[in-house]
Amino acid sequence: MLEIIDLSKKYKQKFAAQGINMFLEKGEIIGLLGPNGAGKSTTISMLSSLVVPTSGDVRLMNESTIKHPQNIRKILGVVPQEIALYTDLSAEENLRFFGEIYRLKGAELKQRIEEVLEQIGLTDRRKDLVKTFSGGMKRRLNIGVALLHNPDIIIMDEPTVGIDPQSRNYILETVKRLNKERGMTVLYTSHYMEEVEFLCDRIYIMDKGHIIASGTKEELKNILSSENTISIKVERANVEFIQLLEADSTVRQVKVQDRDVTVIVPKEYNLFQKISQFAEESGTALISVEVKAPTLEDVFLHLTGRALRD
Ligand code: ADP
Ligand code: MG
Repeated sequence: MLEIIDLSKKYKQKFAAQGINMFLEKGEIIGLLGPNGAGKSTTISMLSSLVVPTSGDVRLMNESTIKHPQNIRKILGVVPQEIALYTDLSAEENLRFFGEIYRLKGAELKQRIEEVLEQIGLTDRRKDLVKTFSGGMKRRLNIGVALLHNPDIIIMDEPTVGIDPQSRNYILETVKRLNKERGMTVLYTSHYMEEVEFLCDRIYIMDKGHIIASGTKEELKNILSSENTISIKVERANVEFIQLLEADSTVRQVKVQDRDVTVIVPKEYNLFQKISQFAEESGTALISVEVKAPTLEDVFLHLTGRALRD
């Protein structure tokens, strides 16, 4: 549906984004994950034709949106990172104002305002001035503005930064709902890996202006080594239990910290049976045994040597 080809943006001597290749398929939720300064907003601004790229192209149904930006503006809703609302107007008045910019009017505009207020859960606060809203409510209204012209694709730039957990969950659920019920294609930008992991079908990981990895959650996690980490909690770590684990030929590493024993084994081995056998032999009481699944945070760390939040 939307294709981004070798897109770059240079500010002065420095590339904010370089050689970006991405595609969005209809009905997908795509994640763009990366730390602050990675180039996410720059990439989004180029593909929504707000910023002119230094080089590269964006194609909507095979037509360049850089040459014909009006086509993409019609089907695209953008939720900017910075909230853009009139705080001295009510929620409804903001929607009317921005609706008119989208050239909506009369009964159609009225109906869209009703629908959008419902979608963002602000129907009962419609008459209230935006300056009385919480950060989360402002965010929701900011999303509402992007939904007014009923776009096929919505792009959200870090829509949950600095808001309370309840509003955050509401926004995440709204994204899921828009995708499921309306088949809306979503490009979701964030530096929170949990959000991207929860929402997205496919993920692009960005760092220092480059896409450094892409794929489904499973594909990205497969970048990590072929090992599993097993966390064992015991009532008391006894020496014999640790020795039995260390002596096992499939075990690569054993770490002990108080009552937590961490064991690293190749992915293909199931160590559960042996663990309970060793516990019995050594008289160790097991509290819990679990395989620790790798997170996207681990993937980022593996690829860059840095944590996402740094
Ligand atoms: P992100 O959204 O991932 O936090 P940005 O796209 O905002 O990252 O920024 C990427 C890099 O480009 C940063 O180093 C930022 O300082 C730089 N940058 C972004 N916009 C401009 C601009 N208008 N002029 C100069 N440098 C910019
Ligand atoms: Mg940004």
